[in-house]
Amino acid sequence: MIQGHARGLKCRLCGKLYPKEALNFCTEDFGPLEVDYDYEGVAKTLSRDAISGRPRNMWRYHELLPVDGEPTVGRHVGCTPLIRADRLAKALGVAELYLKNDAVNHPSLSFKDRVVAVALSKAVELGFTTVGCASTGNLAGSVAANAAAAGLKAYVLIPDNLEQGKVLGATVYGAKVIAIEGNYDKVNRLCSQIAFRFGWGFVNVNLRPFYAEGSKTMGFEIAEDLGWRTPDHVVAPMAGGSLIGKIHKAFKEFEMLGLVDPVRTKMFGAQATGCNPITNTVKTDAFKVKPIRDPQTIAKSLAIGDPADGLFASRLMRETGGWGEDVDDDAIVDGMRLLAETEGIFAETAGGVTLAVAQKLIAQGKIDRNGSTVLCITGNGLKTQEALMNRIARPVVIRPNLAEFEALVEAESPAEFAGAGV
Ligand SMILES: *Cc1c(COP(=O)(O)O)cnc(C)c1O
Ligand SMILES: [Zn+2]
Repeated sequence: MIQGHARGLKCRLCGKLYPKEALNFCTEDFGPLEVDYDYEGVAKTLSRDAISGRPRNMWRYHELLPVDGEPTVGRHVGCTPLIRADRLAKALGVAELYLKNDAVNHPSLSFKDRVVAVALSKAVELGFTTVGCASTGNLAGSVAANAAAAGLKAYVLIPDNLEQGKVLGATVYGAKVIAIEGNYDKVNRLCSQIAFRFGWGFVNVNLRPFYAEGSKTMGFEIAEDLGWRTPDHVVAPMAGGSLIGKIHKAFKEFEMLGLVDPVRTKMFGAQATGCNPITNTVKTDAFKVKPIRDPQTIAKSLAIGDPADGLFASRLMRETGGWGEDVDDDAIVDGMRLLAETEGIFAETAGGVTLAVAQKLIAQGKIDRNGSTVLCITGNGLKTQEALMNRIARPVVIRPNLAEFEALVEAESPAEFAGAGV
């Protein structure tokens, strides 16, 4: 029987405490709210053995998630593969490389199912029957899918320039999908007004403190699958800047509970140069995040010009000895192709961002070639096909006879043709 250990919400700026309700900012100073746990209670039941004996999904870490009873939404989410990527490691010139592959997360093929599972389970506990989100694409599909399976009504708001795969991948579940003229930041602002006006549960607006905790499970799984060890480096893509912070928080919670040795992981954040408010803050050592007014990049899932957790993310990268970098659209495509060609994983544009940024950081010497590195692959390439459409070879078309095929092989690889039997 699951018992929750979340005591309430706490302001990240002034520490003021709030009850567990749908609220995302402090009424004193507008600081973001975060879930506050009773870690002594958590320690009573959470151990390596206890975790190992549980079903392989993200709820095996339920003591550290803000749901009070049995989760009702997204029960099969998480526990995606952590892959030792030796062919990619060789291409990048590093010793020990892993891919955390949330491109195959269940059910909607991105890491967003983790945050949605928590937010919607909480929404049900709080009595919401209508839910929604402001999305750059993946959240739309995840909220739509998980709400459908839970019998909740869903409103999904997106910018009007998203990829077809993302739009279809939300609409098919019967959600009301509404495209807003303008970029994500306009969508987000409207969602705050809607959540307030109609009293609905918007996963990344008024349910955001609960939502954000779901990202920790990516960190828990990485540490467990490395044999209860945290890596030397993690490279994570950043949109609002929440995921990168929660992976590190997960490692620190495991450290606090004695499940891993003291954490020395350096956190590296990845963005597209066409929308780089957070990496720009790191690189210029600024005290404030300067919003990007008009994001322009093929990595649409990361295109948040005014990131809610941007400042916390930039501080984390500096404090852990990590760094932030960004790459242009050509490098993103090259990154997607290199990942596919070396490891057989088709990631979306955000995966290309992560790999290309890792490559840049290795070349800069910021990532130590002898250390262990985990790259977070957060979404599936089938959802962002437009990014590759005109940049990748088309199939060769031939007539259905052996002679035409032979001519093809002879032209492409004469040696193989000469060596063929008969
Ligand atoms: C949302 C998203 C992210 C980043 O999430 P934040 O927590 O907002 O930084 C990364 N990758 C993909 C594919 C996403 O959809
Ligand atoms: Zn406050």
